[in-house]
Amino acid sequence: MAFADLGITEPLLSTLTSLGYTQPTAVQQGAVPAVLAGRDVLAGAQTGTGKTAAFLLPQIQRLLAQEPALSKQPQLLVIAPTRELAQQVADSSVRYSQGTRLRTGVAYGGVSLKVQIDALAQGLDILVATPGRLLDLLRQEALSLSAVKTLVLDEADRMLDLGFSDEIVAILRALPKERQTLFFSATFPKTVKDLAYGMLNDPLLVEV
Ligand code: AMP
Repeated sequence: MAFADLGITEPLLSTLTSLGYTQPTAVQQGAVPAVLAGRDVLAGAQTGTGKTAAFLLPQIQRLLAQEPALSKQPQLLVIAPTRELAQQVADSSVRYSQGTRLRTGVAYGGVSLKVQIDALAQGLDILVATPGRLLDLLRQEALSLSAVKTLVLDEADRMLDLGFSDEIVAILRALPKERQTLFFSATFPKTVKDLAYGMLNDPLLVEV
């Protein structure tokens, strides 16, 4: 099994070769074709399984296949529970989209809101954010989520453990109803299942 067999094409294949990714991991094999096809996905995957590339690679490919966006607002929104994870996902996004027109932004608490507002005003295609800071930016009208085509919830179980369920509900309200949703969690207690089934539409289940 190779990335090309999953539907990944250039320029990503060359990027993956240069990064030394020779074979897709199990979660990538399960999720990439469905994500490319625009389907919702519910994936059980721990850190270290390659879950970040499982959602970023097909999303980057979909964004590159479209006409360049006229809007400066994000089309892909990734919500992550902590600033460390948000930064890691954003770093991966920059790495996988190197040499393309796509711009990645990251937003999390603990750093100046003004600096982040100025950075967002430059325009971006992909935004990775923690829930609290994302809501702050929405309240300040520094950001619109009306152009978002795909939402990714990364480490949804940790997000609920950290008490972000109200924030997630508020963010969902600010998103277009018609969108693709990708839901990643390491564990599936009832609270996580309820959240997932409330926001997913006929998802493909991927278990690793
Ligand atoms: P993640 O589970 O997304 O945190 O990824 C864990 C690590 O695996 C990261 O350092 C990735 O760069 C790396 N990785 C992801 N997919 C692959 C792959 N197909 N081949 C080799 N390394 C990978």
